[in-house]
Amino acid sequence: MNFLRYFNHLIYPNVCRSCSEILNNSERIICIKCIYNLPYTFFEKEKENEVYKLFLGRVPIEFAAALCLFSATGTIRDLLHQLKYGGQSEIGIKLGNILGKSLMESKYFTKPDVIIPVPMHPKKLKKRGYNQAEMIAIGVSEILNVEIQTEGLLKILNTKTQTKKSKFDRWINVERSFDSSKDVIITYKNILLIDDVVTTGATLEACSSSLHKMGNNKISLATLAYAQ
Ligand SMILES: [Zn+2]
Repeated sequence: MNFLRYFNHLIYPNVCRSCSEILNNSERIICIKCIYNLPYTFFEKEKENEVYKLFLGRVPIEFAAALCLFSATGTIRDLLHQLKYGGQSEIGIKLGNILGKSLMESKYFTKPDVIIPVPMHPKKLKKRGYNQAEMIAIGVSEILNVEIQTEGLLKILNTKTQTKKSKFDRWINVERSFDSSKDVIITYKNILLIDDVVTTGATLEACSSSLHKMGNNKISLATLAYAQ
């Protein structure tokens, strides 16, 4: 984001977070034109899409989709950057609303019992103030009218600090300590896991296999972007 746009946001909070045009009364956070021009993947219209295929042979998944294609210079990169590093949590909720609507329109998507955002490392969470995946999950839950569960996977992650693995492995290899969170029970549920971006799928795979081990859960995945 350039300086002028940043300045605009401070002076005129009611501008589009993508193009900086003034929003009209019916628009919130992102203008209709920018929403229309997002680089949609339309993966939700196709069962065996690229994100779904990413998990084949790795972990059982019912459904997977990513709303947009991530590119190094595009609007979605800019919006995600503001969401992650610019304190603009409302961008996550807004894009989550759009993601929720696309899921509702998919004939392959089953309404979940619970929505779980991919947890953020507690230290990172303290620094950033919010988990961007949770903001997206809030936006999706507003559309699907399904509750969000944030505690379960986070407790699993916290138990990892006792292991001898490297910090990164502790974060990523969540399934190793699933049994130490006996107070968290997530079983026999249709779960929708939410994250901001899917790239290799390692984080979503770890979270999914952790939830599978908790007991007979069906997992669907949805992200705002897919980075090839
Ligand atoms: Zn705009």
